[in-house]
Amino acid sequence: MTPTGLPMTVSTTAKREILISGAGISGPALAYWLHRSGFTVTVVEKAGALRDGGYPIDIRGTAIEVVRRMGILPRLRDAHIDSRRCTFLDAEGGVVASLNPHAVAGSVEGQDLEVRRGDLAAILYAMVRDDVEFLFNDSIDTLDQSEQGVDVTFHSGRRRTFDLVVGADGMHSPTRESLFGPEEQFHRYLGYCFAIFTMPNTFGLSHELMLWNTPGKAAALYAVGDNDELHAFLNFHQPEPPFDALRDPDAQRDLVARIFAGAGWEIPRMVNAMRDADDLFVDMVGQIRMPHWSSGRVALVGDAAYAPSFLTGQGSSLALVGAYMLANALSANRDHTAAFAAYERDVRGFVAMNQALVDNGEATLFPTTARALEQRNTMLRDLVTMPSATARPAHSALTLPEFVPAP
Ligand SMILES: Cc1cc2nc3c(=O)[nH]c(=O)nc-3n(C[C@H](O)[C@H](O)[C@H](O)COP(=O)(O)OP(=O)(O)OC[C@H]3O[C@@H](n4cnc5c(N)ncnc54)[C@H](O)[C@@H]3O)c2cc1C
Repeated sequence: MTPTGLPMTVSTTAKREILISGAGISGPALAYWLHRSGFTVTVVEKAGALRDGGYPIDIRGTAIEVVRRMGILPRLRDAHIDSRRCTFLDAEGGVVASLNPHAVAGSVEGQDLEVRRGDLAAILYAMVRDDVEFLFNDSIDTLDQSEQGVDVTFHSGRRRTFDLVVGADGMHSPTRESLFGPEEQFHRYLGYCFAIFTMPNTFGLSHELMLWNTPGKAAALYAVGDNDELHAFLNFHQPEPPFDALRDPDAQRDLVARIFAGAGWEIPRMVNAMRDADDLFVDMVGQIRMPHWSSGRVALVGDAAYAPSFLTGQGSSLALVGAYMLANALSANRDHTAAFAAYERDVRGFVAMNQALVDNGEATLFPTTARALEQRNTMLRDLVTMPSATARPAHSALTLPEFVPAP
């Protein structure tokens, strides 16, 4: 015992050291809140620099309160993409309906935000880069848990010991795999695959989204501003997940080109642009559903634990809310087991409600049969005459507790 009467090995005031794997959205958000509650935080990111690609993402409901408490709401409002129109097209490119984007997305005009994913990632990173250690171009090779901590061997060869580790490494989280086993057990395939990439804006589009559909296929061109770049998106129905075809970039390109061969409108130009794109991202549309989000001293946050799929538009919002709630639980409970249990108890219902948004017909944006497409188009024509949609209750289904300050 020490002169204070405390055991030598346990100091109640020692800074706890935590390693976060992944510098996407949930990783830096978690780093921010953990730093505020007195943790020493390290973030390891596989990529050589912040990954600033990706389609625009939404921040809605409870997540707006998280970014307000972080003090970044004004910056995100400046970065908000003010889309003015969403035009739905038929097989030949004829207009089916032209709508206010909020009516389609179920977001609240003037309140919810849509920003480039890269802008959100950069703003979050700027909040923490001076206070948090970032290890780019590295990743966790092995995790070895004991009573005292987690011994981590990195791919670079360095070795460190942390009190806790959090996997914030996305939908295909290697941390989840090393802890809980193969992704297939937790992956709920939703019947679609998608390809996103950027291409030149030779169409003169500005602040608008064009969405083309035939049964089982969809294509979108999204002009997020007036600039000369478009976000292109190709989505297609596949009853079985094509795990093998998605492993290799050439096979991905061939699969997408084969599916869209012979399609009308601007699809041939899009497929050609996809072949040349250096930022192509192809994946299955799916969710991650796990019975538990932690094991011992390691927990998961964001897509790694509960990816809801882009069909819900809630991936980044769940990541921001999950990061806040996990940090708050760790701030309130020095015992990590109690903290992880509280995090799971308080967030699971919110996650379940948001993941269930796809069960409630959100995929109607991508009908797979001619009949479903006709019904969807009739619904869209009706929407034209209706006022802007109100928010989905799921988006705000969690009331954030006050953040427990550092002891
Ligand atoms: C490049 C990119 C583009 C995206 N585009 C879209 C999009 O267009 N639309 C959409 O809805 N969602 C997109 N997403 C997913 C979206 O960002 C997430 O749904 C959401 O923001 C949840 O964030 P997250 O931090 O949990 O996961 P992510 O944002 O996926 O971040 C995970 C991070 O972990 C890193 N990582 C992966 N493996 C390792 C490893 N072994 N070690 C260390 N780091 C690792 C990744 O490089 C990434 O930076 C994209 C993600 C990325 C990485």
